[in-house]
Amino acid sequence: MGEKAEMIRVEKLNKSFGDLHVLKDIDLEVNESDVVVLIGASGSGKSTLLRCMNFLEIKNSGNVIIEGETIDPKNNDLNKVRQRVGMVFQHFNLFPHKSVLDNVIEAPLTVKKLKRADAEKEGKELLAKVGLADKADVYPNKLSGGQKQRVAIARSLAMKPDIMLFDEPTSALDPELVGEVLSTMKSLAKEGMTMVVVTHEMGFAREVGDWVVYMHDGRIVEKGHPNDIFNDPKEQRTQDFLSSIL
Ligand code: ADP
Ligand code: MG
Repeated sequence: MGEKAEMIRVEKLNKSFGDLHVLKDIDLEVNESDVVVLIGASGSGKSTLLRCMNFLEIKNSGNVIIEGETIDPKNNDLNKVRQRVGMVFQHFNLFPHKSVLDNVIEAPLTVKKLKRADAEKEGKELLAKVGLADKADVYPNKLSGGQKQRVAIARSLAMKPDIMLFDEPTSALDPELVGEVLSTMKSLAKEGMTMVVVTHEMGFAREVGDWVVYMHDGRIVEKGHPNDIFNDPKEQRTQDFLSSIL
């Protein structure tokens, strides 16, 4: 009763690039409306793990199970899977020659074949949700980095994903623009979106995270509630990492 549905399960996941063994026996479970924050030094495998979760990278061994379905890259339509698992990147890559609204509705029009009027209605609602209702007709080069990233979030939400992955969504932003993106992510979390977030923003991890996962050298060293990880980490390596950044 009341148990949360499992959204993503990663089992004994291994990923190498040539001789470089990047992910080592990763086990991770993400349940409905969880916010899981992945932390760890540069090169520890955080991006690769996210990319394996929406099949931008294909594992060497192990399983990635999305909403109970073990995804086989040979048999599943990965574009369909990616509609269920949205991703937001450090660099937003908006189409420069399309208006903000047209950026948001591009995939619903072309992939989901929505009628333009319906797509525009939904797109405007999403822009309102990320606080950019007044920017629908503007071109990306007129936006700040924080606004562009919020458009990228709206664009990803337009496919109605069940899960959202964020890979350092604020790392490329000027410090004064970080807060607006984090608060957009926070409201998404409050609405119950299932999220996996790679970030160096420890305030966000503490405040919004349900779980914090510390990765080192391709392994999950420790996973716990933010209070436990930040106040009372069990592993020496977690303590060392946290004292190096806090
Ligand atoms: P993080 O996101 O934690 O900084 P990454 O997952 O990006 O770590 O990278 C983990 C390791 O894998 C690094 O040593 C990186 O250089 C390597 N790596 C990542 N992507 C590739 C790739 N496409 N080809 C070769 N090596 C890669
Ligand atoms: Mg990375």
